[in-house]
Amino acid sequence: MNGTLIVTGGSRGIGAATALLAAQRGYAVAVNYRRDEAAAQQVVAAIEQAGGRATAVQADVSLEADVPRLFEEAVSRLGPLCALVNNAGVLERQARVDELDAARLQRVLATNVVGPFLCAREAVRRLSSRYGGPGGVIVNVSSRAAVLGSAGEYVDYAASKCALDTLTVGLAREVAAEHIRVNGVRPGLIDTEIHSLGGEPQRVARLAPGVPLGRGGRAEEVAQAIVWLLSDEASYVTGTILDVSGGR
Ligand code: NAP
Repeated sequence: MNGTLIVTGGSRGIGAATALLAAQRGYAVAVNYRRDEAAAQQVVAAIEQAGGRATAVQADVSLEADVPRLFEEAVSRLGPLCALVNNAGVLERQARVDELDAARLQRVLATNVVGPFLCAREAVRRLSSRYGGPGGVIVNVSSRAAVLGSAGEYVDYAASKCALDTLTVGLAREVAAEHIRVNGVRPGLIDTEIHSLGGEPQRVARLAPGVPLGRGGRAEEVAQAIVWLLSDEASYVTGTILDVSGGR
């Protein structure tokens, strides 16, 4: 039996698939969501129906006051923390850089960069041997956009994921001796609702022919990589970012 895993943005897409798979592997899962309580409760119900333990916790990871409360509620309902998946992420309508304004940049960076930093801070305070903790694992959900740049779509989003990759590498080295592993995954084109936020729900279908494996990916395929990085099978892996992108 594993301890408590917090999955930010666990109410749908890659986060929900990760929560479901992790629960099958014995984690008690805190399914964080920002707005869509019904979707988060559906994930919790599916985990419980399969015999697992889960709870839904509302928190906006970009708000500093919400993050400690997320951890406190998760741990008080499910038991001591063992891992964090920094999955919550947003993008906005496809646009060129010369069309962006500061308010949008701040919204994207708040959820995709400030949020993961705050959650990582909270996790380290609970897991690190420096604070008497048992050690643990953090997985950051980045994007191939960090490498490809998302020209003409959302360079702001791509840049935010690049910052997240730097968090992965830097934090991994900072806390390696404190029994915490930190890794990332970079999903490619995955069939979830996030593409609707960009104004193109069919984006995966449009771009799939250019993927070397010839198709978009499924959220479950990303979840497999995340849950492997969480597991003891990855005990010698830290500071690594795994592409899950069909070769794109
Ligand atoms: P999604 O279907 O849009 O789900 C996003 C999740 O994040 C939702 O549960 C949403 O909850 C939550 N969320 C958003 N902002 C939040 C905030 N400030 N605080 C807490 N929760 C928040 O997206 P997805 O495709 O599964 O993406 C998951 C992660 O994978 C993201 O980091 C994304 O950048 C990354 N990714 C996705 C793809 C892809 O092709 N799908 C590719 C590369 C990387 P509410 O609905 O309650 O707001």
